Amino acid sequence: MKSPEKSAVNDNAGSAKCPNCAAPTVSAYKPFCSKRCADVDLHRWLSGGYAIPAVETDDDADAGLSES
Ligand SMILES: [Zn+2]
Repeated sequence: MKSPEKSAVNDNAGSAKCPNCAAPTVSAYKPFCSKRCADVDLHRWLSGGYAIPAVETDDDADAGLSES
């Protein structure tokens, strides 16, 4: 018999990805992979970057597409 509850907990910890660079999330900086990425995201919010399609976001798209 399998116990899905156990594996679900483990998968949850390893499946999270940094929304900034798609690297594995570090629990200390959830949901980001590092303090740097957390800072970058915070500054985007503060400067209203999310409301404007900036060229900088090209970097993020590349990181996500490179898998395929
Ligand atoms: Zn990151």
